[in-house]
Amino acid sequence: MDFSKQLLNWYHVHQRELPWRQNKDPYRVWLSEVMLQQTRVAQAIDYFESFTRAYPTVADLAHAPEEAILKLWQGLGYYSRARNMHATAKQVTDKFNGVFPQTTEELMKLKGIGPYTARAVSSICFDSPVAVVDGNVYRVLARYSGGDLPIDSSQGVRHFAELAQRFLIQTDPGTYNQAIMEFGATVCTPKNTLCAQCPVQAGCVAYATGTVAELPKKSPKKPPQPLWIHYLVPVDPLGNTLLTQRKGLGIWEGLYTFFAIEQQSEGMDQKRIEAEVPLIWPGQTGAVSLLNTEPVVHRLSHRLIRAHFWRVAVKNSLPGGYTPTEAEKLPMPVLMAEWFGAQKNPYFWDSNYTP
Ligand code: SF4
Repeated sequence: MDFSKQLLNWYHVHQRELPWRQNKDPYRVWLSEVMLQQTRVAQAIDYFESFTRAYPTVADLAHAPEEAILKLWQGLGYYSRARNMHATAKQVTDKFNGVFPQTTEELMKLKGIGPYTARAVSSICFDSPVAVVDGNVYRVLARYSGGDLPIDSSQGVRHFAELAQRFLIQTDPGTYNQAIMEFGATVCTPKNTLCAQCPVQAGCVAYATGTVAELPKKSPKKPPQPLWIHYLVPVDPLGNTLLTQRKGLGIWEGLYTFFAIEQQSEGMDQKRIEAEVPLIWPGQTGAVSLLNTEPVVHRLSHRLIRAHFWRVAVKNSLPGGYTPTEAEKLPMPVLMAEWFGAQKNPYFWDSNYTP
């Protein structure tokens, strides 16, 4: 029996029961595919259930306020996914009358749907004969075939896309695509690979040559860039604070943060923050205190962030200020949400308090 049929047989017996596999509703399949990019299945399940409960149809999602979507998304990271997802839902609702297009080409015309998601949705929901290639598929194909082209090089991408398409079972593409992804996620895993239980072990080049742990290959990685962020936490005489929405600033676009001074290197002192206060909030001065001498460390895939929080007890009330309870409900980066969560001092928001 060949590789593809063996995987399909394996899948029929071993597939996990996942909420998005209950039916072939393209809205649910698409939602799960967006969530599963960069996110583990166990974590995605909770978010998937919250989203489908809050927004049972693509039209419900399209009509939701972006802030509510970002709040529900909080913790999943890569927030551009949530914003693009919202844009896609609006397009499907407004231009396609709430009905997802069926082909890869049409799906890719929607904002936020790339080749992978388009192929996944069109094969799983509409039986289009197109192979998907995600991280799991790269791993399985590289190991089984012994292919050592880096999977993040253009040559590697082309090679594995062709190989994936060659292995595809044209008569049942959706099930086959799910089978190879599931197999990569549960048997041919990055570590502790279950070769002893593998149905295709006999034909696997990596197993035969002892190179399982070395494949797939990737180009050498750049280290994450350091970023120091100094957050200014204003507290006005009413006990209110101020956060602003980040616009067009790359990471965390659309989320709310305290005013942030970002720099590529260490080094900040109280005098500089004091001098900044009237420039940031005209007419204001205030007592400045550093809240954490040790920075809060937060890692993103391409950034290593070290954050300091400075409390600024400003003299005058802040126009557009939020109560701490209102502020905490705004969509914000995890780094900020954790800071709010750890803020247990009942006097912190009292303007007369001195840390
Ligand atoms: Fe993957 Fe091991 Fe099976 Fe090869 S033998 S396909 S490395 S699980």
